[in-house]
Amino acid sequence: MVVSKTATIQSINPANREVIGEVPIMAAAEVKEAVDKAWKTFETWQLVPYHKRIKKIIELRRLIEAGADEIAQLVSTEVGKPIVESYLAELTGPLDSCVWLAENSETLLKDQVIQMTNPLLATKQSVVTFEPLGVIGVIAPWNYPFAIPVMTILMAVICGNTVVLKPSEKSSLVGIKIGELFEKAGFPKGVVQVITGDRSTGEQLTKCDLSRIIFTGSVEAGSQIMSQAAPNLIPLSLELGGKDAAIVLPDAPVDWTARGLVWGAFTNAGQACASIERVYIVKGKNTQKLIDKIVQYTTALKLGSPTDQTTDVGPVIDEFQLSKVEAHVNQARENGAQILVGGKRHDDLGGFYYEPTVLTDVNHSMDIMTKETFGPVMPIMVVDSEDEAVLKANDCDYGLCASVWAGGLSRAEAVARDLQVGTVLINDCLVSHAMPQVPWGGLKKSGFGRSHSQFGLMDLVNIKHISIDSSGGNHRLWWYPYGPSRVKTARGGLKFLHGTFPLGKIKGMFIFVFNLFRKAK
Ligand code: NAD
Repeated sequence: MVVSKTATIQSINPANREVIGEVPIMAAAEVKEAVDKAWKTFETWQLVPYHKRIKKIIELRRLIEAGADEIAQLVSTEVGKPIVESYLAELTGPLDSCVWLAENSETLLKDQVIQMTNPLLATKQSVVTFEPLGVIGVIAPWNYPFAIPVMTILMAVICGNTVVLKPSEKSSLVGIKIGELFEKAGFPKGVVQVITGDRSTGEQLTKCDLSRIIFTGSVEAGSQIMSQAAPNLIPLSLELGGKDAAIVLPDAPVDWTARGLVWGAFTNAGQACASIERVYIVKGKNTQKLIDKIVQYTTALKLGSPTDQTTDVGPVIDEFQLSKVEAHVNQARENGAQILVGGKRHDDLGGFYYEPTVLTDVNHSMDIMTKETFGPVMPIMVVDSEDEAVLKANDCDYGLCASVWAGGLSRAEAVARDLQVGTVLINDCLVSHAMPQVPWGGLKKSGFGRSHSQFGLMDLVNIKHISIDSSGGNHRLWWYPYGPSRVKTARGGLKFLHGTFPLGKIKGMFIFVFNLFRKAK
């Protein structure tokens, strides 16, 4: 790694505000150097056969599993995630991705032969190949500092691309660890490089010669990156924020729905793009019971040190995030919202702590129902009907995920189909990000492009069509020279192939054949 001697950035433990590391802010020249090296390495990496790439991925899997304790500890210390979540939410996705890619990527990226249906094209054979693009710039957030970049990098390198990763400035140490793991697993130097720094480093990366940018982060940064990438027309995938709705139907079983909602709102202290940010309960005989249970389970959550194995909710990442959560809750409270539990920061714990908070009597004039809060709050709205719940859920700038909670699954599925999002989970939430087999991505301001799955792989390759004509020296009908008989041939051919009346088809065939052998002019 090339180290700048001037500027550095500190990594802060959000649980106690202590500095746990310092890394260089890489400047333009260093970023360019990394990208140049990635291009150089691409020349050879793209030629490495699948079975050899897969072998390295399997070794990476072994290293992640063997180093799970160390990685989990680092993640919890650097971003404040409860240790259970550092194992479950950060490591299972990457490990499952290793297995899924090892077992399926070669088949999914195998050449495809396409048959033509038009008899005039019978001499042609089409082959579609999936070729690596080149150098992929991965710009990552801090909230899943290990899982998000590792799953993205795995997808890119299995296709034969090389990667330059810019981790978040709030999780640089985890980013560096990722680079070390790929290198230890035997990936040649230059296949995966990590450049540390703040948004200025990210900006330099987006101005380099990249084949694609995969960005995960805020809407604001996504929009800036789109314009930074525009002069060089670098294609990009944007995985942005969310304001995920949970819709609870009247027949939803009370106890596990309450447990599911509480987990979905407060896991990672609510700092997940797919965490439950608003709840719509369709009024029914169990409504009050459900709210009481939500309050009961929220009250029981233990707020505390992320590395204490009994902690349920850790701190938020920093003072900026803490103030944002406070501002959303205070604005809602001032406008009539009831705080059923929580509602304040907890400075006595030493870090950036906010109590898990449940609110009712909220509405869409409040930021807490329309803007991404990204904190441990669960605003609940009771609505009169399923239709109203769907309308309210769709009344949103974001379209990442949603969840539907119900006893009757077919009703829940019908509601799921009406929601304008990229993913709907029925009777669960969040968890599908850890499933490498299924697509991940959003609509509206949640971004575009898909990661994970066969659809994500397609974003990382050049889908190249090769058309082979085996008719030797014969002229093609569509070549020069043109002339009246060629027009007749064309008309006859169209009638023959696409006419709807049998007699017209036969006539068309005769016109076509007769004119086909006449001189064009
Ligand atoms: P952020 O946008 O502040 O930063 C993300 C990354 O982008 C960081 O590495 C940062 O240094 C870099 N960056 C910022 N501005 C840049 C610029 N102009 N050019 C280049 N790089 C730039 O986001 P964050 O606070 O790290 O993450 C939280 C956000 O990410 C939330 O909105 C959350 O919903 C979203 N998120 C989305 C997904 C998803 O899959 N859709 C997943 C996780 C997080």
